[in-house]
Amino acid sequence: MKSLPVLVLLFMSSFFSACAQQRTAEVLSELPPVITDPSKYNHLEPEEARVILRKGTERAFTGAYFNKKEKGTYICRQCNYPLFRSSAKFDSGTGWPSFDDAIEGHVKEIADADGYRVEIVCGNCGGHLGHVFKGEGFTKKNTRHCANSISLLFVEEETK
Ligand SMILES: [Zn+2]
Repeated sequence: MKSLPVLVLLFMSSFFSACAQQRTAEVLSELPPVITDPSKYNHLEPEEARVILRKGTERAFTGAYFNKKEKGTYICRQCNYPLFRSSAKFDSGTGWPSFDDAIEGHVKEIADADGYRVEIVCGNCGGHLGHVFKGEGFTKKNTRHCANSISLLFVEEETK
């Protein structure tokens, strides 16, 4: 029964990794598969649902990512779809994560009912991300995707 300790170790490591795999972890180390079946979307906590499903807005300077500068990819919290790269992120001073570009074709723009603002949603699940503003002059691209941290998950790029 030489293999028994290995099996026990395997069992224990899967047990612990299952425990550690909190979906609300603010930083992931690799891109999870995109979820296309709505019945399998990531579970949303009430505050996440308020923003993502009911188009709410988190308070400025309270989110996990507005000040984040590490290299990586921001994905949709509900369906894991890659939305923004850290290379497009800039400090707008607004208290929300700001990107002057989205991953091409992955973020949809929808005119708000008020006729002034343009909402941005996940191109896969339609979850609310925030709004996009143009012509403010923050960067050369002259575009600010203003996203709620709570709509996103950050996947840090390995720096080896
Ligand atoms: Zn999504």
